Amino acid sequence: MADLTPLILRVAVPSPLRRLFDYLAPSEMVANAPQAALQPGCRVTVTFGRREVTGLIIERTDQTEFELAKLKPINALIDSEPLLPPSLFKLFIWAARYYQHPIGDALFSTLPILLRKGELPPPQGQRCWQLSSLGKGLGPDSLKQARKQRAVIDLLRTEGTVSDERIVESFSRAILSQLEQKSLIEPIVRDIPKTPLETLLKQDSLALYPSQQQALDAIDHHSFNCSLLDGITGSGKTEVYLQSIEKALRYERQALVLIPEISLTPQTEKRFRDRFNVPIVTLHSGLSDKQRLQAWMLARAGTAKIILGTRSAIFTPLQAPGLIILDEEHDQSYKQQEGFRYSARDLAVIRAQQENIPIILGSATPSLESLNNCRVGRYQHLVLSTRAGNAVQPDWKIIDLKTERTDSGIAATTLAAIGDTLNNNHQVLVFLNRRGFAPAMLCHQCGWTAECHSCDSRLTVHRARGRLICHHCDYQQRTPQQCPSCQSHQLVAAGEGTERSEAYLQRCFPQTKVLRVDRDSTRKKGTMQEVFDTADSGQPCILIGTQMLAKGHHFENVTLVAVLDADSGLFSPDFRSHERMGQLLTQVAGRSGRGDMPGRVFVQTHQPDHPLLELLITRGYGHFAEQLMPQRQLTQLPPFRHMAVIRAESNRADEAEAFLHLARKIAQSLVPATPQLSYLGPLPAIMEKRAGRFRYLLQVESDQRATLQPLLSAVALELENHKDSRRVRWSIDVDPQEL
Ligand code: ADP
Ligand code: ZN
Ligand code: ZN
Repeated sequence: MADLTPLILRVAVPSPLRRLFDYLAPSEMVANAPQAALQPGCRVTVTFGRREVTGLIIERTDQTEFELAKLKPINALIDSEPLLPPSLFKLFIWAARYYQHPIGDALFSTLPILLRKGELPPPQGQRCWQLSSLGKGLGPDSLKQARKQRAVIDLLRTEGTVSDERIVESFSRAILSQLEQKSLIEPIVRDIPKTPLETLLKQDSLALYPSQQQALDAIDHHSFNCSLLDGITGSGKTEVYLQSIEKALRYERQALVLIPEISLTPQTEKRFRDRFNVPIVTLHSGLSDKQRLQAWMLARAGTAKIILGTRSAIFTPLQAPGLIILDEEHDQSYKQQEGFRYSARDLAVIRAQQENIPIILGSATPSLESLNNCRVGRYQHLVLSTRAGNAVQPDWKIIDLKTERTDSGIAATTLAAIGDTLNNNHQVLVFLNRRGFAPAMLCHQCGWTAECHSCDSRLTVHRARGRLICHHCDYQQRTPQQCPSCQSHQLVAAGEGTERSEAYLQRCFPQTKVLRVDRDSTRKKGTMQEVFDTADSGQPCILIGTQMLAKGHHFENVTLVAVLDADSGLFSPDFRSHERMGQLLTQVAGRSGRGDMPGRVFVQTHQPDHPLLELLITRGYGHFAEQLMPQRQLTQLPPFRHMAVIRAESNRADEAEAFLHLARKIAQSLVPATPQLSYLGPLPAIMEKRAGRFRYLLQVESDQRATLQPLLSAVALELENHKDSRRVRWSIDVDPQEL
């Protein structure tokens, strides 16, 4: 007897609506398709509105609130088995709910683009080349004119099958396609050979120091546990990661390693490749769509043993997960700031819990959130308090800018120290968190300043490009020669950015290589590589840059770090600004003296007596963070309270504000304000106007997630269905990182 109850599939589609859509699985389809093809996690093609789109099955059911006859059928099945393993699938559902984001958009904005487009996963294994029968029959004298093509033929003749990866190390892709077009060679996919456990290590692991050993032993590989590995820069955290990964590999499990910054991948990847003989894949925004899909599939199949990636790699499917490591856990880049506003750090902990595996969060400057999680016993706090090897902690020196004049941002004392360091054949790192030549252009005659028309912001002078640029909306114009207001020619570039300080340093030290690292300089391919090569060569040089330079890199020969402006962090209105300043200064300082030579850190400031600065410098980040904690508790801010922000933007300020009044009214009708749950706003954002839009926010804070989360879900649904929601761009940001 055929089963007459219809099969209804709840499908997520790429749509901004916070709901799933019911489709009918036609009975012929159910009868003919493999059982696994109709399961949650499989892709299907459906008609949505007037378009045909790729959707993902979330649920199977026989209930629907719609009239059965009105349900549209599924058009086609794409996958014959679930694309996402059940545990990852659960993570997506959790994340969409927690971050109040439409599930369809959450899924489809993180899947590799080719899968979103409905393409089939490529075959698993290693892509290789071999001679075709035509190629095998090729005489020794043919292809004499094409030496490189001939060389590839000869290579394949001697070795049989050679991996694509190895061939393109010595030959260009063009050579391969020419040979393929002549039908002389053909691609094949070969199983990736398994690494036997005896030859897992390419290089012996180091004998651990006692504190490292204690940390390693404390990480239990049999079940979920979260460790905060709190170790100053150079204390040997990476070695603990490596040995923990080794354990996971010996259990035949995979390790997922997240890092904050794509520019860090080559260095980290090299350390892993030097240690292990296993397939490693990296996932970051610099990959082509095809490469990304390939890496994703290798992870899913369990072939890749170590998966290294930036934020979105948290959504990589793993066949046999064994360990998650998230380095520089305090880094803001783990929180996506638009669209699906998830925190990869917090999701990593949830994922580890769902997979029942250990997770290590590492940092020299842990966030107050993670420190608090240690305090309440949710994470274990593993501390590495000394530097590995001979390296010692740097010496700090405060330069008082109230008494010392600067040229191009550099005080005379600092300049002298730079000179000394270079004379000793050491390297210098100069830190200034402002790119461009100068942060403002003004008229000496009438006081006019160049401002962005679309933002509450001044235009930055980029001298080399002859342009004024807005760093918030990327508006650009030619640098004027005359004041547009009074026609005077006395326009001055006021203040300093990396470009100006770089030029000045190059003038002062004409024989020395000065390399700049910021978003402008690294647009040119190979800049980072040149910086690493120069730094590694050990020749005296000056590296100057923004926070891109502060993140995790190893500069063995840097013995002086100069922070040109420590003040911006002391006076920002964001409640995390002090925490961020402490992290940034400590991280920058950590670049110094990692080798055998002691390092110095010069900090230029107008606030030499600021108690927090002094605490940071004399007692270190740990004490500094401890001092910040009671302030957060007193002011009832995270990590002591949970926060969410409803944001609205519009090209009319009144509309954005009115929408948030509506949001507040809806929310208050559901849960009135109490001491346990409070509303603040609508308020203008710290930068009210940006890219032509006025930005407002409504803060909701609560002692309890259990109150906050359902409230947000209910408000989101009501807002979504409200007619005014189409007049503004609005979003919900749970655990916001910036206000
Ligand atoms: P972190 O990741 O905390 O910045 P690293 O793991 O990079 O620190 O270690 C800093 C340096 O000390 C590296 O050159 C590393 O090889 C070395 N190192 C770490 N642990 C040991 C150890 N147990 N024995 C010898 N050298 C070590
Ligand atoms: Zn003027
Ligand atoms: Zn602008």
